[in-house]
Amino acid sequence: MAAFVPPNERRVHSPHLPLGDHREAPFYGKDIISVSQFTRDDLEYIFGVAKEMRAMVERVGTFDLLKGKILANLFYEPSTRTSSSFLSAMERLGGSVIPISEVTYSSVAKGESLPDTIRTLECYADVIVIRHPEVGSAKLAAEYARKPIINGGDGIGEHPTQALLDLFTIEEELGRVDGLTVTMLGDLKYGRTVHSLARLLSLFVVRLNYVSPDILHMPADLIEELAAKGVSQKEYTNLDPVLAETDVLYVTRVQKERFEDLNDYEKAKGAFLISPETLQEAKEEMIVMHPLPRVGEISLELDSDPRAAYFRQMEYGLYVRMALLAMVLGKA
Ligand code: ASP
Repeated sequence: MAAFVPPNERRVHSPHLPLGDHREAPFYGKDIISVSQFTRDDLEYIFGVAKEMRAMVERVGTFDLLKGKILANLFYEPSTRTSSSFLSAMERLGGSVIPISEVTYSSVAKGESLPDTIRTLECYADVIVIRHPEVGSAKLAAEYARKPIINGGDGIGEHPTQALLDLFTIEEELGRVDGLTVTMLGDLKYGRTVHSLARLLSLFVVRLNYVSPDILHMPADLIEELAAKGVSQKEYTNLDPVLAETDVLYVTRVQKERFEDLNDYEKAKGAFLISPETLQEAKEEMIVMHPLPRVGEISLELDSDPRAAYFRQMEYGLYVRMALLAMVLGKA
């Protein structure tokens, strides 16, 4: 006699498909855990959908593509942009959201395990975005979930949806990615956004410069991983030698919450300040990006410079996240 398989388990390998979903949609039912899962064709597809989302938002604001679908936004770490842009994305697509950001008020505070919390939420939601302080947490969640899991940042690991929106920003602002020099500056050790972006950029022909204080270098294993793919990478402790050749200056915050010794944070925190004076030697046609929040790395005076792309970057994020939700739910 065949062993009893509970109905829930049966769906692990054949996700149930509500009417109107498209099985053949390339990302249907998929998790988004790491940028390593994407090819250049995937990126072209995602950005094509993101552009359609932008056109629809500009034309009608909100529409019913994901009507009846529910997103669970599960945030174990602080977030402004990722959580609210996913919320806005879902609502602009006509869906709704279970927001769980105060995990202190949920059963997590009672000691519930991540797999159990995920199994709970997927009873109520069609897709789950998770941000968690531990590297690998989104992957772990995906192993237990029958519904798509989207990694909204796993500790110092990855932040794939940020990297997708970063790349979309670069393409939209500069018209291309191949041939560019991208300079990443700040906390390259703990900054998950640069870990994901550097990996994603390795699909293109780019030159990467890493500018950081000595104690906040890009992780050696990531540098090796990209070197094996033939990516040109150079490390600096000062922006001056590479500013003039830079097409994209990607500035990051020193990640205070990741330091074991706050004295090290104090030493590193004021290392860089990008201001209008800094950009005097920069190209006319270049952009300054930042995943935000900024806490003193970019002066407010730079905001009115057309090269300051960090606020536009957030808006691109809305369209990319709308695209991702529609795709994993089989509607794009
Ligand atoms: N918001 C980005 C992140 O969650 C960048 C940062 O916090 O500095 O990784």
